[in-house]
Amino acid sequence: MSLNPALRASISADLDQTITDYKHFHQTPELSMQETNTAADIASRLQSLGLTTHTFGGTGVVTVIENGDGPVIGYRADIDGLPITEDTGLDYASTADGTLPDGGTTKVMHGCGHDTHITVGLYLAKHLLAHTDLWSGTVVMIFQPGEETGQGARAMLDDGLWGRIVRPEVIFGQHVWPIPAGHLYVSSGTAMAMSDCLCVTVRGLQTHGSQPENGIDPIVLGAYMITRLQSVVSREISGNDMAVVTVGTFHSGLKENIIPDSAEFTLNIRTFTEEVREVVLERVRRIILAEALASGAPEPEIEEMYRFPRCFNDPAETESFLTHVGAELGTDHVHLEQPSTGSEDVGAFGDDIGVPYVYWFFGGYSPAKFEGGQTPPGNHSPFFAPDDVETTLETGIRAALSAVLNKVGKDRA
Ligand code: ZN
Ligand code: ZN
Repeated sequence: MSLNPALRASISADLDQTITDYKHFHQTPELSMQETNTAADIASRLQSLGLTTHTFGGTGVVTVIENGDGPVIGYRADIDGLPITEDTGLDYASTADGTLPDGGTTKVMHGCGHDTHITVGLYLAKHLLAHTDLWSGTVVMIFQPGEETGQGARAMLDDGLWGRIVRPEVIFGQHVWPIPAGHLYVSSGTAMAMSDCLCVTVRGLQTHGSQPENGIDPIVLGAYMITRLQSVVSREISGNDMAVVTVGTFHSGLKENIIPDSAEFTLNIRTFTEEVREVVLERVRRIILAEALASGAPEPEIEEMYRFPRCFNDPAETESFLTHVGAELGTDHVHLEQPSTGSEDVGAFGDDIGVPYVYWFFGGYSPAKFEGGQTPPGNHSPFFAPDDVETTLETGIRAALSAVLNKVGKDRA
């Protein structure tokens, strides 16, 4: 639905401060599940609005905005940064440091744009509180840590989120994306892929590089495994189904004339349905074990590193979203799109309690960035950052308010 003019005026009046706050979060990213300062910052800003905050999963922050009788609606924003050295050249670029789980140090960047998500979430809360005359009901705001590692939603749920916080009847969320600012992309049904990450340790037999007959070469074996894994999608999955199998790392050996005793590689698998997921995982396992057998090697270890659940937008809620948020932003600015092969753990909040959700993408780049068929830097690039910050944030806030007020607004549909 179109936003009330008073609400629109508040968004505009606050835009300068919104951008200032965004730049602050941009400069202070923290790694997944280490968002201690970010969580404290979010909590204190919410408290300064008069809200009570709750902590879940260590660095997750939740607040419940109560405003009389009416539906209970959830809104989720993720808050973590990435181990990337920012190379945007912006005068507010991050120079923050972080410590990786293995103890190594890294630069940290909001390379996935979660700084925009934090900012939009905070201003959604602020504008809802400033205009309580326009709505009645309850809005549960979830600031989630650890999205990038697939840990955060699960950590909040395992910490008893839905046992202690009122359960919403629908949950919304959004992600900044390398599409034109002012535009939204949304999918109905499957919205984002499931993701499985595996670590494979290939066992060989160490020997001198001059005497390969005395060993089992884990590098050659690993190379066969990786080559053959390319045939899972091309030869074993129907053309009607979607699957991606990517080997993102391969490490082995220390010296050119030593055949090492092991190799390690990591896999990332994306699928849209549980059926296809199970087939791919079974075929991947079969190939890895069979190639080891073919080389006379010990059985390799296949370890699950982490996984992302499905993200399935409720079709009826998505249709309602298209209609009502389209009325605010313009139907030619809200696009029904094919699902993304990216992954997200936002769906866990709804799936955990059988509640529908809608998750959409909002644009982060000015039209100039797309001229002549150019593709601007995507999420997780050291060059990723919205160039039209004003339109990006304003659109995110309008979309969130419009989706929420469609449910709790006094003039709701
Ligand atoms: Zn990301
Ligand atoms: Zn992200």
